Amino acid sequence: MGDHPLQFHLGLCGPCRDYLGQMETTRATLGHVEAVPMAEPVRSEMLNRFRSWKRTGAPTLSPPSSGDPDPDPENRD
Ligand SMILES: [Zn+2]
Repeated sequence: MGDHPLQFHLGLCGPCRDYLGQMETTRATLGHVEAVPMAEPVRSEMLNRFRSWKRTGAPTLSPPSSGDPDPDPENRD
């Protein structure tokens, strides 16, 4: 499962890890996650990344950012 694009993405993307971490916390507290909406910026960012990977055929490696938002993948080429 470590080779799944989402798992790979989460290894690099702090905002998405934060989001999923909040979901895990909520699931542990409430027993389910359906009450937690995906924050629109995170949702858009994830979709953009996945579209970019489909287009290029491989993920773009980048070091995890410390505080700054991830660069827009559309501007990376
Ligand atoms: Zn992300």
